[in-house]
Amino acid sequence: MEFIPDKCPICAATEIRKIDSVLGRDGREYQAVQCRICTLIFVSPFPILTREDCEEIYNREYYGSNWGDAGHGYFDAEKSAQMREESERQRLAIEHVTGITRGTLLDVGCGDGRYLESFAGAGWQAFGIEVSQEAVSHARPIQGVTIFHGAIESTDLGVERFDVVRLKHCIEHLSRPRETLESVFRLLKPGGFLVLDTDNAESLRSRTERFIRRMAGPAAQAVVRILMKKDLRTRFGRLSPPVHLLYFSHRSLTYALEAVGFSVRWIFSVHHGHPVWFPLVHPFRCHPVEAVFRLLDHIGTAVDCGEALVCFAQKKSSPPGPLSKCGEGKSVL
Ligand SMILES: [Zn+2]
Repeated sequence: MEFIPDKCPICAATEIRKIDSVLGRDGREYQAVQCRICTLIFVSPFPILTREDCEEIYNREYYGSNWGDAGHGYFDAEKSAQMREESERQRLAIEHVTGITRGTLLDVGCGDGRYLESFAGAGWQAFGIEVSQEAVSHARPIQGVTIFHGAIESTDLGVERFDVVRLKHCIEHLSRPRETLESVFRLLKPGGFLVLDTDNAESLRSRTERFIRRMAGPAAQAVVRILMKKDLRTRFGRLSPPVHLLYFSHRSLTYALEAVGFSVRWIFSVHHGHPVWFPLVHPFRCHPVEAVFRLLDHIGTAVDCGEALVCFAQKKSSPPGPLSKCGEGKSVL
């Protein structure tokens, strides 16, 4: 794994300020830092993940243990059903906001492709791309769904091919976010939409968690470890290297999207359990301490400081230069 010290992965500025330290899941010591130019929060040193690194991080253990609040793995039947149902609600919302139906959709970081099934069922041409072989190996063959195994920057998916590109809680994982956004811009048709959601660095919950983390001494951290089985040292809000590397706010996300040519049409925050942007599970059926933080999240959403950001960004114009013919990458389904 290669590391880049103290350089913003969006705007390339080297003017950064250190905020706190984070113990990586890989056992390395990282810093949570903030770019003084675009305000993005990211980890330093910043890892540049190879395909092999991604396969190692997003392995069977990651998908088995990292998903859900009730111990469900990503491939658990109940979790899968919840996420398929969630994707149906999100498809309706995306069609309503963009005015596009039965178009072409690309889901970047599609996992096993479960998000695409609703779109294919509604007449869309649905494509996904995923770096994890473990996730792709669980994909079900569905008519109208094509999944590519690889990284978007190195897979030939054509130019101006898609009406909608989806980045669903994906961008925070990326070690080349600027390049990925530039690839998405090229792949979208003029007037097409990027629909992106990611954790909100300025959510009320995140700010409170970070405050407690900074204030808590070793004894308080040990109490949290025992009560909630959470190690406060391993997360700065939702920043948890080498998995979550980036932490956006309204301002830094808008900067990143506009820097590659997008026009941000709508950006808002939502809470855990939101009726469109999260699975429909009881938001307070969890550990009592977690329930308090979720209540904070609900309150935060009322003042647009919810846990996650949802953004609709539109490609204003076609990129300069002649358009190349759509290429075909190697499909795995
Ligand atoms: Zn920056």
